[in-house]
Amino acid sequence: MVHFVGAGPGAPDLITVRGKQLLEEADVIIYAGSLVNPKLLEYTKDVCTIHNSANMTLEEVIQVIEKAEKEGKTTVRLHTGDPCIYGAIREQMDILDEKGISYDSCPGVSSFCGAAAVLNLEYTLPDISQSVIITRMEGRTPVPEKESIQSFAAHNATMVIFLSTGMLEELSRRLVEGGYKEDTPAAIVYKATWEDEKKFICTVGTLAQTAKENQITKTALMIIGDAVNTSNYERSKLYDPEFTTEFRQGSKKEKI
Ligand code: SAH
Repeated sequence: MVHFVGAGPGAPDLITVRGKQLLEEADVIIYAGSLVNPKLLEYTKDVCTIHNSANMTLEEVIQVIEKAEKEGKTTVRLHTGDPCIYGAIREQMDILDEKGISYDSCPGVSSFCGAAAVLNLEYTLPDISQSVIITRMEGRTPVPEKESIQSFAAHNATMVIFLSTGMLEELSRRLVEGGYKEDTPAAIVYKATWEDEKKFICTVGTLAQTAKENQITKTALMIIGDAVNTSNYERSKLYDPEFTTEFRQGSKKEKI
């Protein structure tokens, strides 16, 4: 059996209770060493075999899993954040399906949630934005043309941009071309929830300069939109005294 497990954004106590239990029980662990906090490996049992997938190919990962399966062992494939975001899990699952190896998935706290916590942000502020667009710039991995930064920027919604720290001038250019103003609030969060985390509030126009001044070149998220820095939002309906919900009678008479 293989368990895909989300390691969380960095802090070792931000793995789920289930994820920690799976780590404690695993015979073999394959962890994404570039971004998974090695402190999580302290939860493993003494006899566990540990592989760092940062220097392995997909084929090598599968070989390790196959060997473990033949020996009747349990494998944890530990991915950073939540495995469903840029986790490259589908390609592993498809091969496991072909080979008849069973697996399941344990979610984790994605770094985009970790970054919101670090900044005490609500991405979905009433009247400001009710959507979060998660995307990236294309690098060596292409992004479909229909998903250009400009096309998403046209919504002026909250955007969280992964895997793009080295391309911030181009990112700003595309965000403005798409429809954000240069002075739209933005944030850069480096290694959210790690001990050496850093956070900066800036604007769409100053993303590149802010990263450069603070030597941020990787492992960061860029958060774009008024939700980053506004006091101009509407309060929620859910907690409005006049508003009736399934669980609470509001003070305002509903029109029949
Ligand atoms: N599955 C992961 C994302 C993996 S892609 C998740 O759910 O978070 C790797 C990218 O995620 C990095 O280049 C960076 O943009 C972002 N990232 C991962 N961990 C981060 C963290 N703790 N702080 C800021 N960005 C992070």
